[in-house]
Amino acid sequence: MEERSLVVIKPDGVVRGLTGKIISRFEEVGLKLVAAKLLKVTKSLAEKHYPGDREAWLRGMGEKTLENYKKFKVDPIKMLGTNDTHEIGLMIQKWLVDYISSGPVLAFVVEGPHAVELVRKICGNTLPLLSAPGTIRGDYAFDSSYLANTGKRAIKNLVHSSGSIEEAQYEIPLWFSSSEIFQYERVEEKVMR
Ligand code: ADP
Ligand code: MG
Repeated sequence: MEERSLVVIKPDGVVRGLTGKIISRFEEVGLKLVAAKLLKVTKSLAEKHYPGDREAWLRGMGEKTLENYKKFKVDPIKMLGTNDTHEIGLMIQKWLVDYISSGPVLAFVVEGPHAVELVRKICGNTLPLLSAPGTIRGDYAFDSSYLANTGKRAIKNLVHSSGSIEEAQYEIPLWFSSSEIFQYERVEEKVMR
């Protein structure tokens, strides 16, 4: 049950001065902050974090994009020149690499029971337009595929979070060495468990 998840406050979250508010959401729910750093992401880290050969993830982004386009009656061929989910995924991957390496980000690791699922719930839907109020993306952003793709850029949704336990296990060592991850007890642990 004890899990770790990687959260990265993307450049829009840092320049908007939202880092404190965003970290608080995870601390307040009872998740333990076990690693944190502010850094400028290199192209090499960005490309490992958003790998251009992770087929299922690329297609997943393509599918979510096509669904969003259908809702707004946007023709993917006119907008992006293709309706192939893999090609759309690759296009987004390039925008993502540029976006995450465009300015300082705050990366951190939280730990706790069901951490991966809990973090996803707190972040909200990928598309801020669809994320519920009370979530980070729902409360502080309004971007959509339509807006982002009209500008040929990644969706500005403030945070990255690991999508599954496997993704977390792949991502955390990319960002943190084991000596940068801490062990301690939160005072709530005895009360909340
Ligand atoms: P999540 O960040 O919720 O795990 P994904 O892993 O599917 O979502 O996508 C990674 C990131 O790609 C999103 O957070 C968002 O910034 C960006 N993204 C997804 N779809 C699009 C799109 N159609 N256009 C631009 N950027 C997108
Ligand atoms: Mg993801």
